[in-house]
Amino acid sequence: MSEVFFVANISENTARFEGVDPTPAVFIDRDGTLMEEVHYCNDPSQVRLLPEVVEGLLELRGAGFRTILVTNQSGIARGLISLDQYERVHARLLELLGGELLDATYMCGDSPDAPSLRRKPAPGMLLEAASEWNLDLTRSWMIGDKTIDIACGNQAGVPGILVLTGHGRQQDAVGARHVAENFAEAVRWLLGR
Ligand SMILES: [Mg+2]
Repeated sequence: MSEVFFVANISENTARFEGVDPTPAVFIDRDGTLMEEVHYCNDPSQVRLLPEVVEGLLELRGAGFRTILVTNQSGIARGLISLDQYERVHARLLELLGGELLDATYMCGDSPDAPSLRRKPAPGMLLEAASEWNLDLTRSWMIGDKTIDIACGNQAGVPGILVLTGHGRQQDAVGARHVAENFAEAVRWLLGR
């Protein structure tokens, strides 16, 4: 079951992994990485998957990675996206993926103009996920189309792959371990290492 976390609920989630070895994860940005970039997407009819994302997610899970979506949605703080609209867009994304391909989704609706421990490039969502899903960050990766995605991973000790979809071609690849044409190619590179 894919779960959506808006805030940390660490205490409720740690007990279920007692005695279980930590697993690696791939943290995945949403807009411009899994789905086409839409400026402040608040309409499920605008959700379009990028090429081969289903195949890429299946390959990651087959290789033993948890798949964790981490998305900044400052449109919520700006009043451009309601929480209900966000949830409908998210539901449409899951529908198009057509299965349980994401273990969890972490969303931050904070404004970039206010201090936030969760908004990327801050590592808060990754650290929450690591606690809640018993993740091994030393074997985990980040994939995103912005420099802030890569910086977010690096702040949590997680190497990043910049994809050239979405905003990728306008971004500085500084700090990225690799640059890939798109998500599917990032997965192939990661699993072929
Ligand atoms: Mg993005």
